[in-house]
Amino acid sequence: MARIRFESVEKKYANGFHAVADLNLDIQDKEFLVLLGPSGCGKSTTLNMIAGLEDVSGGRLLFDDQLVNYTPPHKRDVAMVFQSYALYPHKSVYDNIAFGLQMRREPREDIDRRVRDAAEKLEITHLLDRRPSQLSGGQRQRVALGRAMVRQPSVFLMDEPLSNLDAALRISMRAEIKELHQAMQTTFVYVTHDQAEALTLADRIVVMRDGVVQQIGSPADIYERPRNTFVASFLGSPPINYLDGEIQVSAAQEVRFVKGDLSLRFNPTTAQKLSDSHGRPVRLGIRAEDVDETVGGGEGSVIRGKVNSVLPVGSDQFLGFDFYGEDLYFRVSKDLDHRMGDDVALSVDVSRLHVFDRDSGQTLIW
Ligand code: ATP
Repeated sequence: MARIRFESVEKKYANGFHAVADLNLDIQDKEFLVLLGPSGCGKSTTLNMIAGLEDVSGGRLLFDDQLVNYTPPHKRDVAMVFQSYALYPHKSVYDNIAFGLQMRREPREDIDRRVRDAAEKLEITHLLDRRPSQLSGGQRQRVALGRAMVRQPSVFLMDEPLSNLDAALRISMRAEIKELHQAMQTTFVYVTHDQAEALTLADRIVVMRDGVVQQIGSPADIYERPRNTFVASFLGSPPINYLDGEIQVSAAQEVRFVKGDLSLRFNPTTAQKLSDSHGRPVRLGIRAEDVDETVGGGEGSVIRGKVNSVLPVGSDQFLGFDFYGEDLYFRVSKDLDHRMGDDVALSVDVSRLHVFDRDSGQTLIW
């Protein structure tokens, strides 16, 4: 059982660099929590504070209501899997997995049972006699997972464990890590800069930037209701499109986003939140997939532009679209035959529009 709580936690490195600021986070027992953000945002530092590999400079870090700020790593009951698998090259797979237990002088039969159980779950039983150099990247990663699993920790920490694998293997390993979480019934904290990985794995995602939490929520929350333009831009492929324009509220309380001859009418829920914003300059966000080629929704939902690139991506295609000199990218069906220079009209799903303050980048609607 492990619930992890950060209360106003700070991390300042010896050179004075503030890597994590005022972190408040409550990780539930058995939760799969993903720390997501660009390089240098403080996610590994946060993970290392849980592991006890980095000191906490301020605030309180608690495991199940026990303060652990000063608890050494080996007393925290955590296991960690790193990006570099850190296997012992001269030991067999079996001994790599068993090593931690052997050091703790656990009974031999017990070790054997746990190693074989883990190997079976990870489907590497046939590799137990091999050395790491005789394994593929994916197999090595499984050995590293096995080594952490046999310790049966209360908290399982993973720092970019899949980033050395090729794209196809990364996707299949994601599924395995998810299964492992279910099988182990343990708290998982997972660091990645890969938004797709975060969306697939997490119960909740913490998005970080420059040591500061930007948003905490379920994958759906984070993707569908981003609190600011940083979060909105960090998730989604191709990235969300932005248009700078203005809110107009008519006498009949109809609320629109207006830019040039584009005039999109908000749905009632969004309109209500913007009803006193007449004339306000805003940044509109349209996710690439929130358009449709069947222009049926009326003039309040249509965007027109000229095709300036067509990028097939197998299942569908990305359409580059010139709108008042800005490049927008939309995801449309692969069956549409668009050519460069074509004039196109797309219907926007106005219930999925995002509206941000132009200066602060904060959402005005979620
Ligand atoms: P990455 O994905 O590149 O590993 P990250 O989000 O995990 O990035 P951290 O490793 O947590 O980032 O680092 C956060 C910030 O703290 C970075 O700007 C980094 O340069 C800085 N940093 C990390 N370790 C130290 C250190 N020992 N001394 C000073 N600054 C450090």
